[in-house]
Amino acid sequence: MRIDIITVVPELLTSPLNESILKRAQESGHAEIYVHNLRDYTTDNRRTVDDYPFGGEAGMVMKCEPVFRCIEKLKSERDYDEIIFTSPDGITYNQHEANRLSLMKNIIILCGHYKGIDYRIREHLITREISIGDYVLTGGELAACVIADSVVRIIPGAIGDEASALTDCFQDNLLAPPVYTRPAEFNGWKVPDVLLSGNFAEIEKWQEEMAYARTKELRPDLLEE
Ligand code: SAH
Repeated sequence: MRIDIITVVPELLTSPLNESILKRAQESGHAEIYVHNLRDYTTDNRRTVDDYPFGGEAGMVMKCEPVFRCIEKLKSERDYDEIIFTSPDGITYNQHEANRLSLMKNIIILCGHYKGIDYRIREHLITREISIGDYVLTGGELAACVIADSVVRIIPGAIGDEASALTDCFQDNLLAPPVYTRPAEFNGWKVPDVLLSGNFAEIEKWQEEMAYARTKELRPDLLEE
């Protein structure tokens, strides 16, 4: 899968995209992630990407031309399944959307900054608008990292232990059961006996029961879906 991220602050994306699972997924060829600096698509000496809003509101607005130029160039090189804009008024991001995106071949994520982006870009070029929650960030870069991370980790083969991603929270609309590691007793606190029993059928049954009980207690809304 290929992800192209367009931003005015490429530095914000460097570390999250180049460590841990995202790093390994790129090294093993499961994912390609490219970051494009919007200023490289300007034509003036000052590399202007924003301008004052019509109507005289406070704040600056990202201009159409550089965004248009960058997206058109990418589109001329390959077909994109989705051109995403990160925005607090988009659909709320969740595991279902991450699963959907992980099946795609090429996607673009455009990060907004400042007051937002000229609405004509959203009307004419963007195919999907995604919010990572009901709060406002300074820019779309952190949202793009959230999307890239959650999508890449479920590409088959990207995580060494593939089963691991499938037993995470929200797959099957259930929260994950508790996990423990050695020592079996720490500070007088014991690991549940069943996990030490070696009886895998019993262990699986316990995990299912715990997943269900935790979901019922903490997120009953998931069970209604
Ligand atoms: N004036 C805008 C907010 C601008 S915040 C409004 O009220 O809707 C600047 C940029 O940060 C946005 O264009 C968007 O790309 C990004 N952003 C802010 N909050 C976000 C969120 N919850 N999810 C995804 N992107 C967000």
